[in-house]
Amino acid sequence: MKNLWTAEEASNYKGDLELRVFSSNLLGRSDELVLHGGGNTSVKSMVDGEEILYVKGSGWDLVSIKAEGFSPVKMSTLLEMAKLESLSDTDMVSGQKEAMTDATAPNPSVEAILHALIPFKVVDHTHADAVVTISNSVNGQEYIAEIFPNFLIIPYIMPGFILAHEIYKMTRDFDWDACEGIILHNHGIFTFDDDAKSSYDKMIEAVSKAEDFLFANADLTFDKIEPTGFDIDKLKELVEKEKGCEIFLKVNQTPLALHYASQENLSGFATRGVLTPEHIIRTKHQPLVLEDGKIEEALENYMNSYRAYFDAFSTDEIMLNPAPNYAVIKDFGVVMFGKSEKESAILNDVIEHTMMAVLRADKLGGYESISMADSFAMEYWELEQAKLK
Ligand SMILES: [Zn+2]
Repeated sequence: MKNLWTAEEASNYKGDLELRVFSSNLLGRSDELVLHGGGNTSVKSMVDGEEILYVKGSGWDLVSIKAEGFSPVKMSTLLEMAKLESLSDTDMVSGQKEAMTDATAPNPSVEAILHALIPFKVVDHTHADAVVTISNSVNGQEYIAEIFPNFLIIPYIMPGFILAHEIYKMTRDFDWDACEGIILHNHGIFTFDDDAKSSYDKMIEAVSKAEDFLFANADLTFDKIEPTGFDIDKLKELVEKEKGCEIFLKVNQTPLALHYASQENLSGFATRGVLTPEHIIRTKHQPLVLEDGKIEEALENYMNSYRAYFDAFSTDEIMLNPAPNYAVIKDFGVVMFGKSEKESAILNDVIEHTMMAVLRADKLGGYESISMADSFAMEYWELEQAKLK
């Protein structure tokens, strides 16, 4: 992984917040670190005698975030909130908003408390492909422990207050100086330091280690495959009918997509879950898989099993439309069902990274993502639902 920091470019940025903007943009430039709104960053700074956490505001992408994209939140409030035995994520969000020193700033990231708990000035968090690929493999726990011996490694916990409180409890008597970073299994990685460059350098170094491991153990080559024919117009018409709106198909027939769609037992292979939890809002837990020409039947089965999944885990949630958001079509490719061209393009990026991770994790012994129960908790999380609006 290339380190993009240059002294020349950095010299255009002065002070804590500006440098925070700069290194956030650098992280965002690599789609192997974060995609479309993924990841978050922060810097702690003294303002009028009070310690403030400037943390990425929701709705901003790291690649293009500016100073006004960071929410200034009082550290003292965040640290008090971390101690609470329980707190709903809605209450956490309103508590964080009340602790903002500028009411016009965007809502702070739901990972703000976690950022506050890390006792270093600069904190970087990404969903680096290489790290989540290894973590989402059947032996991921062992490999991650081996590659990152000096990291704090946390088993999968849903993002939000529960995760922040768990880390608070785990680190009450913790030697932070000996800790090089945090890995959140099935989710991502944190690095931190007292200046923007060191924290960024640590992220690049750590992700490079994971990339080296994959290069040595899970290298991929794709055969040239000619796609077969498929009635794409019929698929579009049927999905539009179920979704009740126009969709903007994006057909992916890159060597990666064709290789992916040519696998044996496609309905078992292509339905093993998301790369990092927030993707589920865009992708759902599983795609529609078409292995023969029977589109109506496959679509109906898909929606029935989505309803069964909803019934199995729901309490008082309102069900989302049960139609799929993308399809994997045997020997044809992968097709996105976005409600706009932009949505299909974003979905395509997310799926490209997921396909690569699945294929590589299979080389490590098998791809394995979060459970159906954890997927449901994320897909129906009130805060994630709000983010999409
Ligand atoms: Zn995250």
